[in-house]
Amino acid sequence: MRFSDIIGHKSTIDSLRDLVDTDRLPHAILMGGQEGIGKMRVARAFVSYLYCLDKKNGDSCGKCPACLQNAHHNNPDVHYIFPRTGANTKSTESFLPQWYEFLDKNPYMSKEEWARAIDAGNTVPVIYRSDATEISRTAALSSFAYRYKTYVIWMPERMQPQCANALLKLLEEPFPDTIFLLVSNAPGNLLPTIFSRTQRFNLKPLKDEEVCSILVADGISFPEAQEVAALSEGNMIKAFDIAGEGGEIKEFSALYMQMMRLAYARNAGGLRMLSDSIAAMGREKTARYLAYCARLTRENFIYNLKNPELNAMTRGEEQFSVRFSPFINYKNVERLITEIQRAHDDILRNANGKLVMFDFMLKVMLQLRK
Ligand SMILES: [Zn+2]
Repeated sequence: MRFSDIIGHKSTIDSLRDLVDTDRLPHAILMGGQEGIGKMRVARAFVSYLYCLDKKNGDSCGKCPACLQNAHHNNPDVHYIFPRTGANTKSTESFLPQWYEFLDKNPYMSKEEWARAIDAGNTVPVIYRSDATEISRTAALSSFAYRYKTYVIWMPERMQPQCANALLKLLEEPFPDTIFLLVSNAPGNLLPTIFSRTQRFNLKPLKDEEVCSILVADGISFPEAQEVAALSEGNMIKAFDIAGEGGEIKEFSALYMQMMRLAYARNAGGLRMLSDSIAAMGREKTARYLAYCARLTRENFIYNLKNPELNAMTRGEEQFSVRFSPFINYKNVERLITEIQRAHDDILRNANGKLVMFDFMLKVMLQLRK
């Protein structure tokens, strides 16, 4: 990973490069920001730059032995610490094969994907006390091949209290040429005493045009990338989820269209079957579907204003709206949104999902021809 591989985060990269160039590296750097914006990519490019033996034009060369070691995850002086399972039965080292594969395949670091990769099941992965003990042990040794030893800690907010205290100790009495790189989705949840000992960088969500370029580079057509970017809130995990083949948005949009066609046709039997199958998705997912219904209903209402600037729909949604939007109008939009909200709340309140959904769809049916 090189700085030039990264889209966005320019000012952070400039500051990081400057720290290396002027040999003013702090003992601890904290990169904070919401998930899915590429913080780990920046961290990895920084590590490559730090170790590169042939830096050129403010970037690592990608070819020297250090760059190759970093690219192949075998730099003996770079250590990764991350949330995991198996408190006393396993070590972080035993997860390294999955970890390196995860870094390469999920560069935007979806924590759900990571939990799946290590078969965490219902266990929330955390960073254990024993991980901090291991850091203290290796930090006391001299580096193997290079001047610096680096510990990249992903999601330090998941450190168990004992682990956090042990890390704090290391930050209070730092070893020379040892750098801690904390990559956090929730820097506000760190111990204030750790937080205050770091040099902090606050990475912002990606801009729509940045999300768009990343998607285009991934092979998505420009118009679709633009649409996805408008919905993704600067979060690449969300963007890939929306753009993906089996993405939930595509599934929900198909269900919404089916629901509206059946409602328009006053096909109560069809609506009953559909409400059963939606309720079978489970409470949480049904609630997400209803949140999607609220959004698309609003979008269809707005579509009537014929001002594309105000709309944020995927191409598939927009194609549907060309003919459907006139049915969402001043007479029914408020009532429809209220009914969606009510069904959403009822579902989360543990009411019978099938009944709530069927009742909701009948109300949609009555509103649709107003
Ligand atoms: Zn190099």
